[in-house]
Amino acid sequence: MYQESELFQLSALQHYLFCPRQCALIHLEQIWKENRYTVEGQLMHGRADSERVEKRGNRKIVCSLMIRSLRLGVSGKADVVEFFKEDGKWVPFPVEYKRGRPKENDSDRVQLCAQAVCLEEMLGTEVPCGALFYGKQKRRLPVEFDEMLRAKTENTARAIHEMLAQGVTPAVKWTKKCERCSLLEVCMPEKTGSRCSASRYLASILST
Ligand code: SF4
Repeated sequence: MYQESELFQLSALQHYLFCPRQCALIHLEQIWKENRYTVEGQLMHGRADSERVEKRGNRKIVCSLMIRSLRLGVSGKADVVEFFKEDGKWVPFPVEYKRGRPKENDSDRVQLCAQAVCLEEMLGTEVPCGALFYGKQKRRLPVEFDEMLRAKTENTARAIHEMLAQGVTPAVKWTKKCERCSLLEVCMPEKTGSRCSASRYLASILST
């Protein structure tokens, strides 16, 4: 179990699976830069960002719910959690809003699974499934929190904790996805070299 002071943001899971270096730049070196994709993502979240509770039939819908898991060591906000009454108990069903289309990697599913683990830990109940809502498709994609996805979520969370504890930004590795990375200008993979952090690179410029 992690301490409250050790929790990292849920979004770090997605950043790490996109690129461990991007995750370190944001969550270790506290660097953030907007690009078209991040702005579109925020606009997308805006629709699910006002705190409110609605009741529709046997469903309660809670927006912007603060959640955390000491087991995973994560905290953050769930866009929308729907609660269904089943056998007299409220069963949570997390729904995460994303811009664009489903990604090739598992990052959205892992982030949603981490929300499920948070809700299970906080409410002492099982959360078997949830959904991702993609802006481009305007429809929900169901996600089952099976053992494989839960294991990947736990392993990713553990890897991030280790990276943050070591305080070392991973080396640059240029890939095609760098072209749509919000930190491309800061990371400067072709200039910083394989082992240099962005902070050290900037410091070296300022010291000349
Ligand atoms: S530019 Fe490439 S290497 Fe640098 S953080 Fe982004 S994805 Fe990672």
